[in-house]
Amino acid sequence: MNIHEYQAKRLLRDYGAPVSDGRIVLKSDEAKTMAGELDGPLWVVKAQIHAGGRGKGHFKEPEAGEKGGVRLTRSVTEAAAEAEKMLGRTLITHQTGPAGKQVNRVYIEDGSGIETELYLALLVDRQTSRIAFVCSTEGGMDIEEVAASTPERILSFSIDPASGLSDFHGRRVAFALGLKGAQIKQCVKLIRTLYAMFLERDMEMLEINPLIVTDKGDLKCLDAKMGFDSNAMYRQPDILALRDETEEDPKELAASKHDLNYIALDGEIGCMVNGAGLAMATMDIIKLYGSEPANFLDVGGGATKEKVTEAFKIITSDPQVKGILVNIFGGIMRCDVIAEGVVAAVKEVGLKVPLVVRLEGTNVEKGKEIINNSGLDVIAADDLGDAAAKIVKAVKG
Ligand code: GDP
Ligand code: MN
Repeated sequence: MNIHEYQAKRLLRDYGAPVSDGRIVLKSDEAKTMAGELDGPLWVVKAQIHAGGRGKGHFKEPEAGEKGGVRLTRSVTEAAAEAEKMLGRTLITHQTGPAGKQVNRVYIEDGSGIETELYLALLVDRQTSRIAFVCSTEGGMDIEEVAASTPERILSFSIDPASGLSDFHGRRVAFALGLKGAQIKQCVKLIRTLYAMFLERDMEMLEINPLIVTDKGDLKCLDAKMGFDSNAMYRQPDILALRDETEEDPKELAASKHDLNYIALDGEIGCMVNGAGLAMATMDIIKLYGSEPANFLDVGGGATKEKVTEAFKIITSDPQVKGILVNIFGGIMRCDVIAEGVVAAVKEVGLKVPLVVRLEGTNVEKGKEIINNSGLDVIAADDLGDAAAKIVKAVKG
């Protein structure tokens, strides 16, 4: 789960990390009041969307000479005007995809004078199963680009959970970033703070890009991106409260409400499968037969007829889906329950694309009977290869 920059900065502030003062604007008519609460002389107006690269991004249907989603302004009036202009419009960055994201919140921040822009991130390194720090002198830029062109400018190391974090880790970062004097102490403190909040708040990712040295010589977090482990949100109610559902894929959101493991993909064949492993295998075999899956979907072991119906609705709501493959191996999950769910769902939402159903396992005969007697135009398949071949043929002709 991700949160907005302004929420991440509030959290950073609560933990004592250096951030600028700022105000969030949700409605145009609040912009002037909010900007007026900040001292100036620089007001930074920042579109809040769950995607980076806002500064270099552009708005859909831009006005002549209009810049991206991060703007420096020099008065309360100008700041309010820029904020008002952003609200409700669609911002496109290299992370949003071509469709962009609608800006529903704008953050107005007390502007900083920048001496240097640095990069700092914490993440879960799955190779070492440890929390890793990544830092670079090349801040404010795309870190993937830095990694590709000048990898020697990136320092990365992980923390042994048994011995934990020490001040020397902070000093290591400070020296890699070329910090001097009081900045080194500030860096050691910041590294301690970030590591503590990363652990306490069950984060997956914490990226400060840029971390800056201000014109007064102090460290400050100028941007903040935080991702949290969704599986831990049950014990982080105040983080969960920061969830902005308008930022999420509506299909994935509906799926999460019905406790379905669904991930939207770019392909054309919608998949309904029980078990994550079988779902992965189904996606693989669709590719093997020359097509692409439109989603990952694991309906789980104990799916009810209602859950199957919901899953089916989510799949058919995707305009990219040109065909559906239902692949069920009935173990705990019974084939007849799936069949009833599929039939109920098709009757409710209709079926505009070919549907291949492959059932195997517990109550398979009953399941097939339900499908066959439903009067629906369903293509039956016997095994995984047969099912994939049939759905790809039905879609591609
Ligand atoms: P992103 O483009 O989505 O990563 O948004 P950032 O918050 O990182 O802002 C992009 C860039 O805008 C930064 O790298 C800075 O160069 C600039 N910027 C952001 N805030 C300030 C500020 O307070 N003062 C100045 N001078 N520049 C800023
Ligand atoms: Mn940034």
